[in-house]
Amino acid sequence: MQETASTGAAHGLVVALDGPASSGKSSVGAAAARELGYRFCDTGLLYRAVTWLALDRGIMANDAGALVALVDEIDLVDNGNGRLARVAVDGVDRTEAVRGPQVDIAVSAISGIAELRLALLTRQRRLASQGRIVMAGRDIGTIVLPDADLKLFLDASVEERARRRVLERGIDPASDEAGEIVAELKRRDELDSSRPIAPLRAAENAFVIRTDGNQLDDTVRQVVEAIRKAEAEAEAERVVTAARASGTGPALAAAVPPPGHEAAEPTAEPRRLRTSGPPRAQRRPIRPTPIATHNWWLTKLGTLVLRWIVRAIVRFRVEGDLASLPKSGPMIMAANHASSADPVLIGAFLNQVLGRPLNWLGKRELVEFWLTGWAFRIAGIHPVDRDAADLEAFRTAMRILEAGQVLAVFPEGTRSRDGGLQQVREGVGMLALRSGALVLPVAVIDSDILWPRGRLLPRFGKRVTVRYGTPFSVPDELAKLRAPAKGRQATEAATRLVMTRIAELLPPRQRGVYAADPPLSREGVPAERLQSHGS
Ligand code: C5P
Repeated sequence: MQETASTGAAHGLVVALDGPASSGKSSVGAAAARELGYRFCDTGLLYRAVTWLALDRGIMANDAGALVALVDEIDLVDNGNGRLARVAVDGVDRTEAVRGPQVDIAVSAISGIAELRLALLTRQRRLASQGRIVMAGRDIGTIVLPDADLKLFLDASVEERARRRVLERGIDPASDEAGEIVAELKRRDELDSSRPIAPLRAAENAFVIRTDGNQLDDTVRQVVEAIRKAEAEAEAERVVTAARASGTGPALAAAVPPPGHEAAEPTAEPRRLRTSGPPRAQRRPIRPTPIATHNWWLTKLGTLVLRWIVRAIVRFRVEGDLASLPKSGPMIMAANHASSADPVLIGAFLNQVLGRPLNWLGKRELVEFWLTGWAFRIAGIHPVDRDAADLEAFRTAMRILEAGQVLAVFPEGTRSRDGGLQQVREGVGMLALRSGALVLPVAVIDSDILWPRGRLLPRFGKRVTVRYGTPFSVPDELAKLRAPAKGRQATEAATRLVMTRIAELLPPRQRGVYAADPPLSREGVPAERLQSHGS
């Protein structure tokens, strides 16, 4: 890997932002970087400055040695905001000059010279090596930073780009000069994309953003969102890697356990990721369950039957202010897990109350099994690949929340052995923070007595209560507590908050490891813990 390889979320990402002339890379990249506290570098200025100097000194495009010698005279200047969007030649600011029409005409020919590109390559990589940067250009994602954490490619039709340039330069759109701008852009596109070295093109793994018809702000928002999403994924990956390295097993899969997971967990040992089996790329692609199921009426019918069965077997009680639960918008339903009956005790009733389907994550083997798979899909279970475990579960969970739907999770991952809450890992807190979705805490009381682990069938006539709490926003609650809003400490505090809210709804017998904590405050996070989070 190169010195500019991915830096991971903790230090911010390295973002490549490519695109043709006047696609908005500079303004969009700089604005997005400012919003995210990233540095910004416009590499086009380097090529422009060399071209300007070459024109000034009468150096010919075929004199590669003389062109390379110019590189040392050029400096990108930080405007104090981390924005490297000005260029100095021999200590004098020449930004306006290098953006002039003479340079526009000559720059593409000069930038096709291999020796010059090589000389500038090291320089650009050095700039990116400190991370937390958006770097704009033509070949950033393909050549300069092939290991960038995120690659974006801004594109727009040549007419749209010309229209923007005409506006920017205050030219009459009906004038000859405006017509020349279209021709000039077409010529540069052609030269930049057809040159043999580092041609302009989107990297294979780049996200292409078409900006025709977009206002600048729209594109900035899209870029900021893409970077935030990539940061979340990098952070999730970091947590998973850390969990693997410490041998504690999958953090996220634990937070979002698939129904039927109990069979795979006969021991009290922490689960480990399976490392056997074909690499993920070789596995059959997963057929996803639609997020807002198309067969909602079948789900309703299925849950009606389940409700009837539950009422026939159990003395069942539902508590909480169900009428005020949100009927729309993303929500994470997080419950304790003490019995195989829990998903049914929640799902069969909450679906009806909310008037929309719950979404669960489940092992793909289960959801793809020909005999029962259709029923699991109707029940809103989304298949995840256990070999790719945590990250995939996280992504699927985020997709559900981004679609504004309800995600149901058992943060403990496995059923409790004694009915009490077990220590959880960070998945639920991370999801709540990243998605900003409301969290609905739920306590399933005495389901371990109804159907304990190890028993083939449930007992008849037992009393079970499902108690619904009040939905809350984790970021808002953490802000009230002045807890960190980002990073590992925030994730820990968020997880703790969710679990404390569930514990508050449970009887003392079932508070498990969360009973021994300092008083269960309404705020949910013990004050001294927040102190130690450096708030
Ligand atoms: O981005 P801008 O239009 O200012 O770039 C000027 C020229 O510099 C481009 O037309 C292209 O020929 C060259 N360039 C390049 N590689 C980059 C950035 C710019 O070849 N990374």
